[in-house]
Amino acid sequence: MAGHGISVWGSLNIDLTVRVQAFVRPGQTVPGQSFHTFTGGKGGNQAVAAARLGADVRMIACVGDDLYGEMYRDVLRREGVDASCLSIKRDASTGTALIEVEDSGENRIVVVAGANARLTTAAAVRYSEVLSQSAYLLMQLETPMDGVLAAAEAARSAGVTVIMDPAPVRPLDEALLRLCDYVTPNETELQALTGMPVGTLEQAERACRELLARGAGAVVNKRGAEGALYVDRDGAFHVPAFAVKAVDTTAAGDTFNAALAVGLDGGMSVREALRFANAAAGLSTTGLGAQTAMPDWNSVEDTIRYNKLRKFIQHL
Ligand code: ADP
Repeated sequence: MAGHGISVWGSLNIDLTVRVQAFVRPGQTVPGQSFHTFTGGKGGNQAVAAARLGADVRMIACVGDDLYGEMYRDVLRREGVDASCLSIKRDASTGTALIEVEDSGENRIVVVAGANARLTTAAAVRYSEVLSQSAYLLMQLETPMDGVLAAAEAARSAGVTVIMDPAPVRPLDEALLRLCDYVTPNETELQALTGMPVGTLEQAERACRELLARGAGAVVNKRGAEGALYVDRDGAFHVPAFAVKAVDTTAAGDTFNAALAVGLDGGMSVREALRFANAAAGLSTTGLGAQTAMPDWNSVEDTIRYNKLRKFIQHL
C-alpha cells in the first residue's frame, strides 16, 4: 500500500550563469559582467518547491563525487528535503548547465547530464521500497527513460499517485502514459506530444483527450498567464491564473507540479489543488532564478485569500 509524503525522481543540475555584453566568438576572450551559481534541474526544483510548501519530501537522484554534488546535498538538507537516496557516481560529474546570458536577453546553454544519465532502472530497483512508501511520485524527463518507466512501475504497483511532467518533451510510450495518474504538459509540450493545435481552450481540450486515449489518467495543460486546463474522462474545467508581475518564469512549471502534489497530499480536491498550484507557480515568477522565489505555504494561502477578498470587493 502507498505510504505518505512525496518522492521526487529526477535531475539535479548546477547552473553556472555568466552575463556578457555580447556572446564570445571562437578564439575570443571577453570580460563577463557577473557570475552566479544556482541549484537547478527539474527534479531538484520540484523537490525544493514541495519542501518549501511544507511537504515531507525525499529526492531520488544521482550526483558526481565532486564539490557540486556536496553542494546540492547541503542545499537539499537545508531546504528540508530527505537526501538519503542520492547516489554518488564516482566516475561522473554532477549535472551542470553552463549558461551565457547576453545583454539582449538571449541565452546560450550547454547542459552536461553527467550523473543524471545514471538514474536508470538499477536505481528504481535499489529504491523500490522508498518509491512504494510514498503517497505521490513527481517525475520529469531529464533522466533516462528506462529509469523513469521502472520508477513509475514500482510506485504505481504500490498504489502511489504518479504525476509526470513531460519536460523536456520526448515521445511518450503508451506503457508509460498508462502508469501516469496526471500528465502535465505546457502548451508547447502538449502540441509536440499530439501534433494538434492547442491555442484555444477547446483545441487544448481535444489534444488532452488524445493523451487520455493513449492511457493517461488525467491531463493538466499548464497555460502560463492563462492558468491551467484540467481534463479527465468525466469532463474538463479551466482554472485561471493569478494576476502577478512575472519577472522570471524559470521553474514556474516545476513549482506548479510540486504544489499540485502538496495540495492533493494535504487533502484538497483536484480543483482546489490546481488553484493552489496556480497561486504557487504565479508567485514563483515574481523573483529571479529557479528556486529563489519559490513560495512557502503561508504566502500561497495569503495570495488565495487576498484574491478572494479582491473579487468580493469588486462585486460590492
Ligand atoms: P512551464 O513553466 O512548464 O513552461 P507555464 O509557462 O505554463 O509552464 O507555467 C506554469 C504555471 O505557472 C502556469 O500554469 C501558471 O499557474 C503559472 N504562471 C506562469 N506564467 C504566469 C504568469 N505570467 N502569470 C501568472 N501565472 C503564471
